[in-house]
Amino acid sequence: MRSLLTSLLLLTRQVQHSLTYTLLSNQSLQHLIPPPPFSPFTYPDPDFDPIHSTLLAPILQPRVPGTPGHAAVQHHFTSFIRNRLHPSWQVLWHNTTSTTPATGDRQVPFQNLILRRDPPWASDAGEGEVARLTLAAHYDSLYRPEGFVGAIDSAVPCALLLFVAQAVDEALTRRWEGMESDGGGLEEEKGVQILLLDGEEAWVEWSEVDSLYGSRALAEAWEGTRYEAGSSFSTPLEAISLFVLLDLLGAAEPNIPSYFPSTHWAYQHVAKIEGRLRKLGVLETKPRKPFLPESDKEGVQFFRGFVQDDHVPFMQRGVDILHIIPTPFPAVWHTMDDDGDHLDVPTIRDWARIMTSFVAEWMDLEGYVPEADPRRAENKYSEKQEL
Ligand SMILES: [Zn+2]
Repeated sequence: MRSLLTSLLLLTRQVQHSLTYTLLSNQSLQHLIPPPPFSPFTYPDPDFDPIHSTLLAPILQPRVPGTPGHAAVQHHFTSFIRNRLHPSWQVLWHNTTSTTPATGDRQVPFQNLILRRDPPWASDAGEGEVARLTLAAHYDSLYRPEGFVGAIDSAVPCALLLFVAQAVDEALTRRWEGMESDGGGLEEEKGVQILLLDGEEAWVEWSEVDSLYGSRALAEAWEGTRYEAGSSFSTPLEAISLFVLLDLLGAAEPNIPSYFPSTHWAYQHVAKIEGRLRKLGVLETKPRKPFLPESDKEGVQFFRGFVQDDHVPFMQRGVDILHIIPTPFPAVWHTMDDDGDHLDVPTIRDWARIMTSFVAEWMDLEGYVPEADPRRAENKYSEKQEL
């Protein structure tokens, strides 16, 4: 993304759909991902160790679109999904091509991965009935410098989102099975989707045409896809209840501002979760100030600027955005030092706890959080893990 802050034209949604949001109890917050020493996190961390983990480590390689490293990471994502997530998650690929200023006439492929879990009765009700919490990160890496890994940019955010999917999976299953057997769920159609976006980075120099290749194409495609007439939402774009974009996470002491007055309420929910988890002793880090320190920010304090990133094509079309990105950017940003050696694993694990709890609250999972950590059953949906 580009660090320059540009003037902000905020388009607010014409239609606000009312959604429930249920706070987790202290017990659920503690059970979701327990604190040390009861934590399932062991050393080396099975999910987030930069060298030995089965989730993050395979992403820590150059991932320039159209190269073997990029294809290997795509394969890693689909293996993880197949082996570690409930089979009801839908995997959709959104494929486009584009030339870039660095690659001449060659058409470079850009492939967004959409991972979606809707309530089991949603297919009967109609696709246009489901409001989807949308969590996004980009998985491509910079073209130059050659060999650039992009650990915080954005291997860690991708790993966090897949981790969150797995961490809420069992509770979602339990909740929806319960609602189905009650014959319920009719008044509420709430799903969750993860966008692993391609082609975020500029190839030569950031501009409107040299950046955001994947997200520009996806936002345009979703704006033009019509659901059945009479549906609650007319397009997949309109069905996005909130677009949460994670970027540049994984370095210690992040400072996440609240960028948008229109979604400050959602920022406050995440900040409140952070505060409660810290108080409960669930988080491992002891930063000088909270990761999300701006809960009390008020109207005039929002200066009208934001960081250019994958949310822009969606925001321009009226989607509500929560941008979880530090300002200032971590010092390693767009340098060869943005690699596994410069990550702070306790910070990553605390992000995993915070974001898992937020998704669990959004999806109303209070009462359904299992006591045993579902992550212990590795590869529960497949006998063999392909790497
Ligand atoms: Zn970048």
